Amino acid sequence: METIRWNIKNDETDNNRAIDEAAELIKQGQAVAFPTETVYGLGADATNEAAVAKIFKAKGRPQDNPLIAHVATVDQLKRLVDNLPDYTEKLFKAFSPGPLTYVLPSNGMCAKNVTADLSTIGVRIPDHPVALALLQKADVPVAAPSANLSGKPSPTIADHVWDDLHGKISGLLDGGPTGVGLESTVIDCTQDIPIILRPGGITKEQLEEVVGPVMIDPGLANAKEKPKSPGMKYKHYSPEVPLWIVEGAPATIQKVVDRERKKGNRVGVLANNYTAKHIKAEEKIVLGENIHEIATHLYDALRKFKQGDVDLIICEVFPEVGIGQAVMNRLRKAATEYIDE
Ligand code: AMP
Ligand code: MG
Repeated sequence: METIRWNIKNDETDNNRAIDEAAELIKQGQAVAFPTETVYGLGADATNEAAVAKIFKAKGRPQDNPLIAHVATVDQLKRLVDNLPDYTEKLFKAFSPGPLTYVLPSNGMCAKNVTADLSTIGVRIPDHPVALALLQKADVPVAAPSANLSGKPSPTIADHVWDDLHGKISGLLDGGPTGVGLESTVIDCTQDIPIILRPGGITKEQLEEVVGPVMIDPGLANAKEKPKSPGMKYKHYSPEVPLWIVEGAPATIQKVVDRERKKGNRVGVLANNYTAKHIKAEEKIVLGENIHEIATHLYDALRKFKQGDVDLIICEVFPEVGIGQAVMNRLRKAATEYIDE
């Protein structure tokens, strides 16, 4: 299959030929990748089971991992769900469009492979001009997981999507780099108190400011509990070579790096500006100064370390405050070892 690639500027989405063509392909039941403010998504008509099946096939995604349905407005969102608790209105006002996915009782409007046969559906309004223009034009709910091969880091630039999926999907809207760099926060809104199923772009602190106490799915912190979000049980975000997380100051990290180099291993280091300055290794990728920059650059960095260049990646631990919770959640899932000496 030939993959059409369109370049599009974020401020030129009105009457845009690329948006029209991409929306037409979605209406015809094809799968098309597009930028959102979190990561690139691979979209298909959520009401068309055969179209949705193309997403699972292209990504190699396990069938029991449900997809998020994307819509352009709160009215369209309400057409897919039943029984909204009162607090959802406050959340919509504060965070939609934005990187927050609501899990709500499904009313059956979407195809059953979108929800992996669950009674609930994840819905989100992305905050990106290209995504919103595409959703408006396609005029159907669009099921869209991240546009990467299953198991690999999510795509934050169009080239990541191209590397993973060209020849397997009908189109790719290249709108440049995404913003947040990590996926949306998934929040279960079927209970009296909302529960975070996956940490992401909106933090627990931000949610609590709007709706009061919010819980965190025990399955996220405790490996013995089954996570409520099916996707959280899978290994994810894996780079080409093993990733170790090493807790401690730069001197501690350097000790582990040196030990591995003595064994003949070439080591790549992932760190913030400060730590990177204090460490010697074959290759270093500096993620940035603050936790927002680190989130934005993480997936690109994980993809940049190639087999053949390094044998092992060592990453430091970042404080689990704000979006740092999502950063550490993704790193733990990507890592093969956690070292705390
Ligand atoms: P992705 O779009 O690849 O970032 O993954 C979407 C995430 O949302 C996965 O972790 C899914 O398991 C989760 N998700 C989607 N729909 C539901 C649902 N109805 N209930 C619980 N988790 C969901
Ligand atoms: Mg994903």
